[in-house]
Amino acid sequence: MFSDHQLAPYAAQSAQSKGRRFSEPAPNSRSEFQRDRDRIIHSTAFRRLEYKTQVFVNHEGDLFRTRLTHSIEVAQIARSIARNLSLNEDLVEAISLAHDLGHTPFGHAGQDALNACMKDYGGFEHNLQSLRVVDVLEERYASFEGLNLTFEAREGILKHCSLNNAKQLGELGLRFIDKTQPSLEAQLTNLADEIAYNNHDIDDGLRSGLITESQLMEVDCYARFRREVDSTYPGISGRRAISETIRRMINLLIMDLISTSEKRIADCKPQSIADVRSMPAMIAFSDGMYQEAKALKSFLYEHLYRHYLVNRMSNKAKNTVRELFTLMMAEPSLVPPDYRVARQDDQTQLLQARRIADYIAGMTDRFAIREHRRLYLIEEV
Ligand code: MG
Repeated sequence: MFSDHQLAPYAAQSAQSKGRRFSEPAPNSRSEFQRDRDRIIHSTAFRRLEYKTQVFVNHEGDLFRTRLTHSIEVAQIARSIARNLSLNEDLVEAISLAHDLGHTPFGHAGQDALNACMKDYGGFEHNLQSLRVVDVLEERYASFEGLNLTFEAREGILKHCSLNNAKQLGELGLRFIDKTQPSLEAQLTNLADEIAYNNHDIDDGLRSGLITESQLMEVDCYARFRREVDSTYPGISGRRAISETIRRMINLLIMDLISTSEKRIADCKPQSIADVRSMPAMIAFSDGMYQEAKALKSFLYEHLYRHYLVNRMSNKAKNTVRELFTLMMAEPSLVPPDYRVARQDDQTQLLQARRIADYIAGMTDRFAIREHRRLYLIEEV
């Protein structure tokens, strides 16, 4: 059996995994979690991340983050924290690369629109959809559906889940019902995601011109580091000054997360991953850092995510998703055969709605725009 590197006793150990849904022989040249990561990288959903966006729509510019570059940034941050805490780097990498696989086109606007469309059919949650992608939707292996990932990777992918849906998920859903914790690797990846998007949204926001540096100076930690950069490199300006500032912010968040988590782990003294699951969350920012991150988040909400130009694009994105869904539900004969439910009656309505949601959620931004044109414009084929 291929083993993990030296890890803390409370880390997720490949050899002690709770296993896969369908049992398979252990891999001989890599660990179980490395196999998870490799399967994710080779999946169709992973390649689609390149053309899905977070804040900006894919055609708005080539330099903005996409879900693919975001996932790689999350993996980088998560791995460096994991190594410092002697946690399992391979597992955090797998979770990071898979965490956004279930996202719809057009970021949060697309997700909100699809959730509203699915209101009478069980709703749409992107976290649950990420799990559905790796459990069911990927078609790559002869003997099982999906990627057949380990319990630990699936646990990390399912960050949030409504109580109703948790009840359908067996052991995986249990922690949302009894309010216990996932592995430290899952806790860590969740916060690495936050570090990544807060900082790259500042960068993309500035690059787009929707926010300005003088506005950002009202955010304490940005202003502090910007002044430090100015005094270390007098006369610095433009992109270099922004990059120097943002890398200091990312570093501060990472260092704070490591030292706060080390303290909490030392206080709780977990001896195993079972202890981790039954103890309070141990991966955390300090209170001061948490407040700073919160201030940054509210700045981004107010000045970027709700900027009127972003609103305009989000509104078009929502209409696109809504119109795709509505037309396909009304006319299932327009849905590609793979996503069409054979018998159309009251009983199969739920199933048909779910398949249409799968189809739409799988679309990239540009595919959704094209498909919308093909369905609504007579001159498009
Ligand atoms: Mg993310």
